[in-house]
Amino acid sequence: MSRIAYVNGIYAPHREAAVHIEDRGYQFADGVYEVCEVRDGRLVDETRHLDRLARSLSELRMAWPVSRPALCVILREVVARNRVRDGLVYFQVTRGVARRDFMFPAHQRSSLVVTARSADRAALDTAAGQGIAVVTRPDNRWERVDIKTVGLLPNVLAKQAAKEAGAKEAWFVDANGYVTEGGSSNAWIIVGNTIQTRPAETGILRGVTRTTLLDLLAREGLKLKERPFKVGEALKADEAFITSATTIVTPVVKIDGKPVGSGKPGPVALKLRKAFHNIAELA
Ligand code: PMP
Repeated sequence: MSRIAYVNGIYAPHREAAVHIEDRGYQFADGVYEVCEVRDGRLVDETRHLDRLARSLSELRMAWPVSRPALCVILREVVARNRVRDGLVYFQVTRGVARRDFMFPAHQRSSLVVTARSADRAALDTAAGQGIAVVTRPDNRWERVDIKTVGLLPNVLAKQAAKEAGAKEAWFVDANGYVTEGGSSNAWIIVGNTIQTRPAETGILRGVTRTTLLDLLAREGLKLKERPFKVGEALKADEAFITSATTIVTPVVKIDGKPVGSGKPGPVALKLRKAFHNIAELA
């Protein structure tokens, strides 16, 4: 079955889908994006993803490419046309096409690209059951990582370094030695009965999975501390894990080659992974 992508009003075969060379996303990384999990053909936490997109657009004074209800329809159409039952839908908005010039173009014609792809849910669950290794890297990103922009070069380099070290994710570490977040995920540890993660006010993207997990912790009566942690604390923790729309909750078993806790995936992280979709919005 051929894949279909949406580009500025057109549903096109994936391999032919293209944007203009003077699209500002291509020229300046002047764009924002979202990745939403698809589960049983439904969008997971769509409302929160769209709320965050709204915030990213507004922080950058970028116009919606289509109305929010129209975007909801397009997302579903791309999921359906690609027959995605389990997988993800990716959507990206840029400040559109204009003659290359740093200043905003006079027009308000944002570009919209939407793609979707399937994932093997059972294989992902099995992989998560084994846990992942992470490596740490200095956080060399700009200050506005709260905006989900397509300017991801530091993340690309960090995640490539992770791969070359046999790890699946990189954890960024700030100038004071505190873990900020992963290259494409939020970072957590569990110490005793307390689950700990960095507050979303500085240094991280407010992950939608993070926000929904906070709801789950509250519902389960689990103890939460929103406080930054250092790499040494993570190594001494009972468990560590990451969250994102694509990894949900995935245990971290190794940091820079050293084991976390028992060196095996922690029971709490695995329990949270199992329970996550009981509380997430499925629309
Ligand atoms: N931080 C970064 C830098 C990310 O790229 C992501 C993935 N989008 C996350 C955190 C997790 O966010 P979410 O749970 O919304 O996928």
